[in-house]
Amino acid sequence: MKAKKVLFAAVAAGALMLSACSGGGGTGSGGDGGGDGGLIGVAMPTKSSERWIQDGDAVKKTLEDQGFTVDLQYAEDDIPTQVSQIENMITKGAKALIIASIDGTTLSEVLQNAADADIPVIAYDRLIRDSENVNYYASFDNFLVGQQQAWTVLNGLGLTELDGTEISGAPAGPFNIELFAGSPDDNNATFFWNGAMDVLEPYMDKGVLKVKSGQTDFQQAATLRWDGETAQSRMEDILTANYSDGSKVNAVLSPYDGISRGIISALTDAGYTVGPEWPIISGQDAEVDSVKAILSGEQYATIFKDTRELAKVAADMAVAVLNGDEPDTNNTTDYDNGVKVVPSYLLAPVPVVKDNVQETLVDTGYWTKEELGL
Ligand code: BGC
Repeated sequence: MKAKKVLFAAVAAGALMLSACSGGGGTGSGGDGGGDGGLIGVAMPTKSSERWIQDGDAVKKTLEDQGFTVDLQYAEDDIPTQVSQIENMITKGAKALIIASIDGTTLSEVLQNAADADIPVIAYDRLIRDSENVNYYASFDNFLVGQQQAWTVLNGLGLTELDGTEISGAPAGPFNIELFAGSPDDNNATFFWNGAMDVLEPYMDKGVLKVKSGQTDFQQAATLRWDGETAQSRMEDILTANYSDGSKVNAVLSPYDGISRGIISALTDAGYTVGPEWPIISGQDAEVDSVKAILSGEQYATIFKDTRELAKVAADMAVAVLNGDEPDTNNTTDYDNGVKVVPSYLLAPVPVVKDNVQETLVDTGYWTKEELGL
């Protein structure tokens, strides 16, 4: 431990000197924190989704409050850009890296460079795969997120409570459901899918839920880069191919609010209107536009993951490692990245429907009433 501390102190001193003469650079808001604890690199995937902006801002603020300088970069979902941003952070003398990867399998080489420079790495929300050079992982219980997404769908159909408890005298169906998954290169997407299928499959087996398109494999349901337009065109194709006979889709499992918005556009274009025939649609991230869509009845639910809490866990992990301490973890079994099981801290996700928007999102200060148009 002692030797490690001395090493980190030396690295920190080097980082300080480097960061003092490096300035900001890159496309983000890097290097303007003015702290003297040294530089920490924070790599986020994209600004096109609100949640990552919230995450980036929260991590930056948490670290700056503790005296660190932060180089925060967004890569607009372009893998080579993210790799070179991380490379840059290493060159600038970052003491630690906090990374939300775009493709969890593409960072092995740059993380080897980080390891060669003794820079600890925290995987942020998305597990980084195929590398031994990932020290810790901060995320939510991603399997539970998937289960909750499925429970919100079942809840909207009158089959279960939000925690999955069956409602007695529930309708027998059959209900038509279509299934969407996230980006196949994001480790979380499989966890969400597996959690959701764990809940939905028994209902599919009993014939309460029917997938008219027959597309029940992860690969068929996956949406590269979580792209809303990709989801919209897949939903359009599904509607044309399977629902032109006048039958209606009653529910759509969606793993992310941006995908839900694409699905909503496809439904609207196909002539669906909000009302009794409008399907139950799930989501994730509690993005402002989607919470508004929940309030107006277009989307049934989302999953709230408090990015402020995640930012704090990740920042605390980085700081603990830099101090030679062991960060808090609560899961040391589930997140095998292909090379090792990465010790993790998993936070609890919260399902949100119209009835608890106030309690979950407004009372907690995540969104204001004004932001939600309440
Ligand atoms: C995150 C989700 C997010 C998705 C798309 C996942 O890795 O865990 O919260 O909806 O990426 O950005």
